[in-house]
Amino acid sequence: MSFTIGTGIDVHGYTHEVSTSNCPDVQYSAGNCLKLGLLEFPGFPQLQGYSDADVATHALCDAILSAAHLGDIGSLLGVDDENWKGASGEKVLQHVLETVQREGFSLESASIQIVARAPKIHACRNQMMAKYQEVTGIKIGIGATTTDGFLAELGNGQAIMAVANALLRFA
Ligand SMILES: [Zn+2]
Repeated sequence: MSFTIGTGIDVHGYTHEVSTSNCPDVQYSAGNCLKLGLLEFPGFPQLQGYSDADVATHALCDAILSAAHLGDIGSLLGVDDENWKGASGEKVLQHVLETVQREGFSLESASIQIVARAPKIHACRNQMMAKYQEVTGIKIGIGATTTDGFLAELGNGQAIMAVANALLRFA
């Protein structure tokens, strides 16, 4: 038995300027709202991306694939495969977990750090953790930071970044 670790990072931006308030006036439909950490945020528009642009889940998937020495989501799913157009973070994560399990790995531990001016993650952290536990079977630590307004698009709320670590066990 051995253990192996991986790191993942992802960034997605909004197509247009958004309010960084936690209670914006505009509400977006389920198909058009922000998907982050397997949750939907109707007060924010969806980030740009080929899939649903769930940046936190993509970082986690890259960390898991890296730990299993299986490349990254881009190399696993391709960047223009019709099957993955608009795919949910949950669907991508499930596929990644099945892929590493087939190779003899199991996800033992993981953490995700979200870099975003909004939404405020502390308000939904428990819900996010519960959702990840439902899909992965383990408790995943989730943290967040704002960059205090620095780092251009990340600082002014026009993009969201996420970094993740994963520990896999090879049986
Ligand atoms: Zn992504």
